[in-house]
Amino acid sequence: MRNFSSRISGFHKQSLDQRIDTVADLTGLDGTAAAHLRDTGNLPPETAERMIENVIGTMTVPIGVATNMIVDGRDVLVPMATEESSVVAAVCNAARQCRDSDGFVTSTSGALMIAQIQLLDIGDPETARIRILERRDDIQAICDDMDPVLIRLGGGFRDLEVRVLETRSGPMVITHIVVDVRDAMGANAVNSMAEALAPHIAEWTGGRTCLRILSNLADRRLARARAEWTPEAIGGESVRDGMVEAFHFADADPYRAATHNKGIMNGVSAVVLATGNDTRAVEAGAHAFAARTGRYRSLTRWEVTNDGNLAGVLELPMAVGLVGGATKVHPTPKICLDIMGAETAEALARIIAAIGLAQNFSALKALATTGIQKGHMALHAQNIAMMAGAEGTEVDTVAKALVDRGQVRIDVAEEELARLRGN
Ligand code: NAD
Repeated sequence: MRNFSSRISGFHKQSLDQRIDTVADLTGLDGTAAAHLRDTGNLPPETAERMIENVIGTMTVPIGVATNMIVDGRDVLVPMATEESSVVAAVCNAARQCRDSDGFVTSTSGALMIAQIQLLDIGDPETARIRILERRDDIQAICDDMDPVLIRLGGGFRDLEVRVLETRSGPMVITHIVVDVRDAMGANAVNSMAEALAPHIAEWTGGRTCLRILSNLADRRLARARAEWTPEAIGGESVRDGMVEAFHFADADPYRAATHNKGIMNGVSAVVLATGNDTRAVEAGAHAFAARTGRYRSLTRWEVTNDGNLAGVLELPMAVGLVGGATKVHPTPKICLDIMGAETAEALARIIAAIGLAQNFSALKALATTGIQKGHMALHAQNIAMMAGAEGTEVDTVAKALVDRGQVRIDVAEEELARLRGN
């Protein structure tokens, strides 16, 4: 058991090198581990230091490119950053199987983000609500004054909603400002507006304002994708029908829906991360949206068309940007956006929705037919081989032996590695 104090005075003021030394001294890291941390790969250390606090290294995740994608009639290559095997392959397979039916068609509801202002200690909440709504023009001016750049780009305040909420702390009056954030994710943009507006709301109503923050349930910023697969392209009508039944299961049962939607987010979050966007914001929005009816349900819907094709649709909040946050600071997102040819946040949101739908198609198809493990096994076997200590060409040899034996297990990998090394 190590014994040290995690209260490290001035740690945040140390240089990256000094911090690595400090952590190595305290935790007993050897020179090899410290050298590993010092190699920050394609994220320059000075950039990493500007992104977050107390930096001691970087975490490199592979970027794979999804091929075969047609989005709104255009062939696109989509970079996906993920640590999970089979995610990229699943998208490639789904996209290949709907190329003959023109790929994915997408749309969006616009780039509107919501920020909330909490008003408390209010005896006449219904009157306060109307008083706030009466100030719409003032509110627009206060919000728009905060972000001249956004206004110049055609964004800014768009709408006002005020709700009375019954809570355990008594009634609260919750103001929503709805803001067009153009090509930004928009968190800082709308948070600044909400903070500027709050004192005025307190003054107009005689109440006390407290929280001022965006809502990640970005249901005014939806991205949608739809696609069709012919029965011939996917292995017949029984596969199609099994996939629809699999969707019905997910839509009826939160235990299944959680995993179903996690699969969708395998694709979505990989593109969100590759473009330097906030994965947690998009994930929070997606899961809250999935529960909007009061029960947690599937984010996709699947049905059989009049022509007998399998049709899938996905609709989810998509708060992603091309500016702000890490998108312009980290060097990799720009390259990923260039590969995709996404010149607006809306174009990016559309591609991400298509990727989410493709991912869900492959998961449902695998689950309704051979099961999920078959497709996973080849790459999973390589991971197991590496866990067992295989290096270089040994990885493929051991992985193949595991798959051939139908036993992708660490003990079997160790046995195969020992045999290979002649022990
Ligand atoms: P930001 O404030 O860095 O950039 C947005 C600003 O850039 C706009 O307000 C505008 O002034 C300017 N801009 C320049 N060109 C623009 C264009 N083409 N379109 C729109 N704006 C343009 O970033 P942001 O997008 O407001 O905030 C994103 C960051 O906020 C992310 O890092 C996110 O992780 C973080 N964040 C998230 C949450 C949350 O999700 N709950 C909360 C706080 C912060």
